[in-house]
Amino acid sequence: MMGCRDRIPGRCSFRLGAPIGLAGSLLFAATLRAEDCGNGVALRLSAPDAVQGTLLLAHIRSEKPWSEVSGRWNDRDVPFWGESEKEHGPSRAYTRQALLGVDLERAPGKYEFTVSGQLQGGQSVNCRTMVEVKEGHFATENLTVKKQFVEPNPEQQARAVAETKRLREIYDRVTPERLWDGPFRAPLDGEFKGSNFGKRRVLNGHPGTPHGGVDFPAPAGTPVHAAQKGRVVLAEELFFSGNSVIVDHGLGIYTFYCHFSEIDAKVGDEVVAGTVLGKVGATGRVTGPHLHWGLTVERARVNALDGLRVLGVS
Ligand SMILES: [Zn+2]
Repeated sequence: MMGCRDRIPGRCSFRLGAPIGLAGSLLFAATLRAEDCGNGVALRLSAPDAVQGTLLLAHIRSEKPWSEVSGRWNDRDVPFWGESEKEHGPSRAYTRQALLGVDLERAPGKYEFTVSGQLQGGQSVNCRTMVEVKEGHFATENLTVKKQFVEPNPEQQARAVAETKRLREIYDRVTPERLWDGPFRAPLDGEFKGSNFGKRRVLNGHPGTPHGGVDFPAPAGTPVHAAQKGRVVLAEELFFSGNSVIVDHGLGIYTFYCHFSEIDAKVGDEVVAGTVLGKVGATGRVTGPHLHWGLTVERARVNALDGLRVLGVS
């Protein structure tokens, strides 16, 4: 909720409603290096390197149709989606895409992304590319919150631990189908600015965990919309997050919305981009009314604004 001091220009704030329009392949400028995987297959990433908390889009293109393809990143299987046919000069192209999340606390260094698959006709494809993860240089801020959120009593402590475990279990589940469709949308209508992703926080003098979401200060009661199509998998009050909703978008992708004054969704609801999930409030560990919006991809906590940049804005 404080000023943004992130050193990466444009990474920490985003004006809602801006016509970004960076959907899919538009990101792949001809200048970006492509790995030649043999058999007429090329692999590209939306960027050759990434700071902590970044979302990358992988794009693999073949001259022949795919039988199967999957990736491996961060010791997890990465599902690819899509099969589009486009005319590329005299040849047709068959493309598939995947999202790679670089967790907010991923140690800086070089990491391998591998892809293996098979083309119709039987040729196998094995490809690898390296991604350099750079330090995020996130600012630190001091905040004052209610004492119970920094020094919880044993009962509150036990509740918080149990809830953290449940959230981990949710994010660990990968729904094998892609539930989303088309570009993502911002969760608030109007000109609200999001910031604070990755900030290291000192709460009442105690170092806290890094901030895994984007905060949008907004008047209490402002409707909060689902960013994309999916299924509600959590809708309840949590100790730290207050009234919270999690939407599963499939393929290991989840969005998280919290501190609502009231929740307008329930577990099992099928939502579309724009469905109202609740209203902005100040429940849980907060300094004032705002929406906290998180994006998790295969367990990696990434900047939710990257979801809009990489997957497009409706
Ligand atoms: Zn927050």
